[in-house]
Amino acid sequence: MRTRHPKGAILTLEDDTEIELPYQWEICGHCRGEGKSSAYLGAFTAEQMREDPDFSDDYRRGFYDRDCDRCGGTGKLAVPDREAMAAEVRDAYDAQCKALRELREDERSERYGDWMDHIYHD
Ligand SMILES: [Zn+2]
Repeated sequence: MRTRHPKGAILTLEDDTEIELPYQWEICGHCRGEGKSSAYLGAFTAEQMREDPDFSDDYRRGFYDRDCDRCGGTGKLAVPDREAMAAEVRDAYDAQCKALRELREDERSERYGDWMDHIYHD
């Protein structure tokens, strides 16, 4: 299964108008631009690797790599470009960032997933 995030962020205004935010491409920090990652397996110690050389070989070959769940395998992220926004869009964007941040702080939950961190600045 392959999940894709929308290319750019969509800002929904109070009257339900949707605005596609201007964005810039940045290299995905999660997979370092590779688009694939075996990070979901967790980290392995050198000792674990020595005990299971077959696994170790496969691991190094990237056999277990999956599409990065942060960037959907593209290796890059569309990051909203504040500078390129019209003033009223930037205000609405900032307000949405603030609202989301407060929501996250209130709930102290990971529900929104950290992939959204690149869209909503602190
Ligand atoms: Zn990535």
